[in-house]
Amino acid sequence: MVVHHDPAEAKLNQFNALNKEVEKQKQALEKLLASQQALEQSKRELEARNEALIQARDAAEAANRTKSNFLANVSHELRTPLNGILGYTQILQYNEDLNQEQKEGINIIHKSGEYLLTLINDILDLSSAESGNIQLYVTNLYLHDFFKSLTDLFKLRAAQKNIAFLYEPITSLPLVIEADEKRLRQIIINLLGNAIKFTKQGGICLKVGYQQGCLRLQVEDTGIGIAETDFERIFNPFQQVSDAHHKAEGTGLGLSITQRLVALMGGTIQIQSRLAYGTTFDVQLPLPAVYDYAIQQSVIPPATITGYVGEPRHLLIIDDKRENRSVLHNLLAPLGFNIEEAEDGVIALEKIQQTIPDLILTDLVMPKLDGFELTRRLRQDENQQIRTLPIIAVSASVFSGDQYLSSEAGCNAFLPKPVHLEELLACLQHYLNLVWIYEQHTEITLQSFNVQPLQVPLESLLQQLTPEQADTLFNLAMLGDVQHLIKYATDLGKYDNHLLPFMERICELARNFEVEEICALVHPHPTDLHS
Ligand code: ADP
Repeated sequence: MVVHHDPAEAKLNQFNALNKEVEKQKQALEKLLASQQALEQSKRELEARNEALIQARDAAEAANRTKSNFLANVSHELRTPLNGILGYTQILQYNEDLNQEQKEGINIIHKSGEYLLTLINDILDLSSAESGNIQLYVTNLYLHDFFKSLTDLFKLRAAQKNIAFLYEPITSLPLVIEADEKRLRQIIINLLGNAIKFTKQGGICLKVGYQQGCLRLQVEDTGIGIAETDFERIFNPFQQVSDAHHKAEGTGLGLSITQRLVALMGGTIQIQSRLAYGTTFDVQLPLPAVYDYAIQQSVIPPATITGYVGEPRHLLIIDDKRENRSVLHNLLAPLGFNIEEAEDGVIALEKIQQTIPDLILTDLVMPKLDGFELTRRLRQDENQQIRTLPIIAVSASVFSGDQYLSSEAGCNAFLPKPVHLEELLACLQHYLNLVWIYEQHTEITLQSFNVQPLQVPLESLLQQLTPEQADTLFNLAMLGDVQHLIKYATDLGKYDNHLLPFMERICELARNFEVEEICALVHPHPTDLHS
């Protein structure tokens, strides 16, 4: 068969094929355009969603700030009446006219008040921890006193639960370290508190050691234990992994705060545990040791101070709350201070122009003219005597920045409310160069403890020293550090009456530089605890 090729028809076919191709490409382009439009639409939707999320985040942050401010304000308001309660219990504790029963009652009010204060602080900490607002305030920390007060507290709590409590130094400890005392205490209290809470039989043990600038704390218990699968979870806020009965006793926030505090201090926290056998938390904190601190500090047992040497000093107390002024007034007037009071900064300025005080104790948050502005104005006064007045901020403010702001404004020192008498007196002593007068029978020397002549052999008294105490005495004697040795022995004698005769002997030997004899006396104690 012959096929005719018509060129026109061929052209038409070619054209049709091209047309089809163009149509196809047009459709593809339309599809592309449609998906581009769809993409743009989803982009717009995503942007809208993102915007909504940002708004929600901003709203949540604003709500969180409001909550933090609310908590801070509530806790400020709660602290003010507590200041009155704790201030007066401190005054009444030293009142000789009270009988034993009344004194015990006052003691209970004081302890309950202190407990309430701790609760308020904890609530505030939770909100600060959540918003990452915790700051560390590092001071010199006398380890002996620190662990003594902690172990006293937990011995009591363990005894109430009929379980054992052991405190075991695993190396000798420096006399003083640099640390944020409140936060370090909080870490230990959280861990020991949990250990007690989750232990029904056996006991708990706090092991403490110090090596290469690091404080090591081990809290061991023989309690219910934690499953390995829960090791990470328990550090998350509000996570509780134990049974319903135990859950009711806590909030699930202790460990997450503890972990944040440890991290803030540059340390580590580890856990070892076995269900039904017990748990060990191991904390390492880099906290530098300070050795020459003990001799710089003066010991002020407030009950024994009756006044000071020289002319009466004039103090101006400024606070808008009458009960706060009254607490300070009643604490200080019996010691011979002339006291003037003012309820705000404006009245204070007038009073200062009339009579210039020797020192000012001022609240920070007050109506009309607050403590910050008052201090700023005084620091710019044309009278040099007013410009250089010692000003101590006394504040229940819980905003950590307020301490910094008060120092920026020109305050010399900051005392938190409720005021601790020891801190207040130490501050006054420093800024007024005071020399305290003590009650005759309670001078702070070992002789003042009315010790009976030594009847028991020294060796048997030695048994009452803890290995850590013996080690510290031994090390100080080896170093020939007589000043610290006397200070340490004096403190030991003060804390434990049984040790007094022995400590007297140590001090006597130290004063005569008979350090070898001291070493020989305390040597029988095992030093193999060092690691
Ligand atoms: P809380 O103790 O207030 O519940 P924490 O954050 O301190 O909160 O602890 C979280 C959880 O970790 C506890 O609820 C408990 O389940 C577990 N836990 C913590 N310490 C121990 C311990 N020593 N023994 C057993 N379980 C513990």
